[in-house]
Amino acid sequence: MPSEKSKKQTLRAVPDAATPDEAPLFKSIPDGIAEQTSTACPLCNGSGWEEVENRGVRRCKCLAQKAQADVINAARIPSRYRPCSLHNYYPIHGNGTQFRAFNFAVRLAREYPAVERGLLFMGTVGVGKTHLSVAILQELIGKGVGCLFYDFGSLLKEIQDSYSKVSQTSELGLLSPVFNTEVLVLDELGASKPTDWVRDTMMHVIGKRYNDQKLTIFTTNYLDQRRASEETLEDRIGVRLRSRLYEMCKTVVIEGEDWRKKKDAQSLEVK
Ligand code: ADP
Repeated sequence: MPSEKSKKQTLRAVPDAATPDEAPLFKSIPDGIAEQTSTACPLCNGSGWEEVENRGVRRCKCLAQKAQADVINAARIPSRYRPCSLHNYYPIHGNGTQFRAFNFAVRLAREYPAVERGLLFMGTVGVGKTHLSVAILQELIGKGVGCLFYDFGSLLKEIQDSYSKVSQTSELGLLSPVFNTEVLVLDELGASKPTDWVRDTMMHVIGKRYNDQKLTIFTTNYLDQRRASEETLEDRIGVRLRSRLYEMCKTVVIEGEDWRKKKDAQSLEVK
């Protein structure tokens, strides 16, 4: 009766499921790859190599899925927004601002890297600004572009925490990916109370990307036009930063109702 080892040696490579003609050939499962994980894939049992009956082994599909998941995790897209894509953004019928915003998003995703400016999505809460920003990132990640998502308030908080003695992260360690990532989404610009420190830090972060001509997509609930006694974006971030943003981004105003509120009202109608 053949030993377990010799049984393994007799396995032949079979074409990869995804790229049948270009798949590398392997006689057996390469050493060191067959690590078991607690949530092992049912196809390869965590080895990364799927056995094809009477034929041999091939790379398991789960490797590519895991690699894609790792990239999305590294981009820090919040789990709530992971399903957001250009395919499930539905501009409201008759709302030209939403069609326009959608078209800008599609164009940026399609034409990148041949684009000169990012986008500044501006509008009240729940009109889909973050949805569209994440949708662009997902498209770019699919093209192999390095991307990062940050809620601006959380970034400021993390920078503040990095000053604490017990912090494991230095300000530079934290900011290095924010400065260097190819495409960055900064969500909720202007949401933090504009103290001197907040303004200086915003200027530091955005100014660095401005100087390095890196593509950045922003969302903000503040508008340029003053409505009643509400603050404008310039009030929140300062005139110097607002001026830089004109150069860094195309401003895209989105109007409409709060999508969440509308969904809630519709769910009441059904019940
Ligand atoms: P904002 O950033 O403008 O406050 P979000 O992008 O967070 O709004 O949108 C709130 C929720 O509504 C999200 O779950 C988003 O996916 C959904 N949503 C908003 N607008 C649309 C739309 N036009 N089509 C599909 N989903 C939308």
